[in-house]
Amino acid sequence: MKAYEGRPAATAGVGKDPVNEPMIRHWCEAMGDTHPAYQGPDAVAPPTMLQAWTMGGLSGHTDRSSAYDELFGLLDGAGYTSVVATDCEQEYLRPLRPGDRITFDAVIESVSERKTTKLGAGHFVTTRMDVRVDGDPEPVGTHRFRILKYQPTRLPPPPLPEALRAAPSTARKPKAKRPRPVINRDNAGFWDGVAGHRLLIQRCGGCATLRFPWLPGCNACGSQEWDTVEASGEGTVYSYVVMHHPPFPAFAPPYAVALIELAEGVRMVSNVVGVPYDKVRIGMPVRLEFLRVDEDLELPVFNGLVGSGG
Ligand code: ZN
Repeated sequence: MKAYEGRPAATAGVGKDPVNEPMIRHWCEAMGDTHPAYQGPDAVAPPTMLQAWTMGGLSGHTDRSSAYDELFGLLDGAGYTSVVATDCEQEYLRPLRPGDRITFDAVIESVSERKTTKLGAGHFVTTRMDVRVDGDPEPVGTHRFRILKYQPTRLPPPPLPEALRAAPSTARKPKAKRPRPVINRDNAGFWDGVAGHRLLIQRCGGCATLRFPWLPGCNACGSQEWDTVEASGEGTVYSYVVMHHPPFPAFAPPYAVALIELAEGVRMVSNVVGVPYDKVRIGMPVRLEFLRVDEDLELPVFNGLVGSGG
């Protein structure tokens, strides 16, 4: 697989549209970004739009190289049949302006050793896309995209013997598990806290604004410095919905999903436990507890303090 490193993943790709004002305006409206640099006759495109200019849209691209397909075939053949996107890193080297025509090349930058992850063993494949403006050899930005091709830890159950196939099958299905959280560099501290039965809120090192969920930077002042404060565990139901349909594996509807306002002022989505779903109310006081969902997963939930004097 190392032989695929350096081989092209896509060559001579062409952006479907030149950099243009309508797409910039839609992006800024969707993001709530009112920065003046993205408006007016001298507007530049927001750097974070980089991938918007290279994506194929629903009609796709036809420039994917055979090397990429071969590598995936090799991994599939070795049993690494599942895929999950893990992260993306971008570098912005110079601004793009309306009218710029986009070209790009992508290379298979690295294929990792076999790694063991919670999802299963597999290989990380990193592709790097160099984005250029037509006619200029210097990239305007790079986009690194990493996926994990892996062999799921939990293999599907083997087929049932013939004699059992006619029998009701519901009892034989392994119990579905709740989805696993995606833990990354930006939120690992939160999950470390959960493991120690502490609900940690980020506090900005620049302006002391509390924030939740965890983010790399402060929305109030932009600072990337932070520490944490431990939530007292007291809160109230700020809002809620009762989920009836569609049913998801591992969840038994109807159940209440609540937006909890913590005493510290930040809000988080969680489950209310200890109260029937139809007794959850806005303003209901709740108290943090930790729910062991299964052998690998513990979650912060909130116990409704109905009739307990809370
Ligand atoms: Zn701040």
